[in-house]
Amino acid sequence: TAKAPLLQVENLNAWYAESQALHGMNFEVPEGELVTLIGRNGAGKSTTLRSIMGIVRKRKGSIRFRGAELIGRQTYEIARQGIAYCPEERAIFASLSVRENLGLPPVLSAGGSSDEELLEQFPNLRARQNSMGTMLSGGEQQMLAIARILRTGSRFLLLDEPSEGLAPVVVKEIGQQILRLKQRGYTILLVEQNLKFAQMVADRHVVVEHGQVVDVLAADQLQANMARVKTYLGV
Ligand code: ATP
Repeated sequence: TAKAPLLQVENLNAWYAESQALHGMNFEVPEGELVTLIGRNGAGKSTTLRSIMGIVRKRKGSIRFRGAELIGRQTYEIARQGIAYCPEERAIFASLSVRENLGLPPVLSAGGSSDEELLEQFPNLRARQNSMGTMLSGGEQQMLAIARILRTGSRFLLLDEPSEGLAPVVVKEIGQQILRLKQRGYTILLVEQNLKFAQMVADRHVVVEHGQVVDVLAADQLQANMARVKTYLGV
């Protein structure tokens, strides 16, 4: 029998006040895989990550992580179960140095990377370790945002649009870093609008439209379905 997926989202509905943003989302993330949520602006990708983390509070349906229900839990409890979240705006503290930013997240479980290991894995950050957050390029900020959450020891990472606003060569570097994380056994759920980037890193794509899942494609099925996917993305 197949192993239960690490994350199971079933009939997930979510609201901002009275406005419903997710309308019955269904998808799974198998352990060790990198799954993307792709779709156009406003489709509900970021809201899905925020609902998993309990940042969007008003949600119904089921989100199971390692079999445990997350709906009803607080964000800090969800983080303690082993889920780390990197928001779209990256949330780098401008008045703190790279090293200080790296040291911020709490170590929540064994197996988190030490500062030294993080600087080893992200050599760009080593060169900048005493620079203030404001002095970093967009790519360096994104590396720092990803590196920082590895400190927690969480093995499941939610990454919101790591490629956003970055030059193609930097996007490629970030993609290589993310692939390395996958090789090291992290499970990753990644929101993307950049199809090329999504293709570079993913095992599976979940296509989102109007707060629902309209398609799930294995990486090797994407090319054959590109025309349809592009209409969903509006490109
Ligand atoms: P984007 O890449 O633009 O963030 P997305 O697919 O991630 O796109 P969401 O940000 O999840 O989309 O937005 C889903 C819906 O929820 C949209 O209709 C959006 O306008 C709405 N929405 C998002 N954030 C809020 C908020 N803080 N308050 C009210 N409505 C929101």
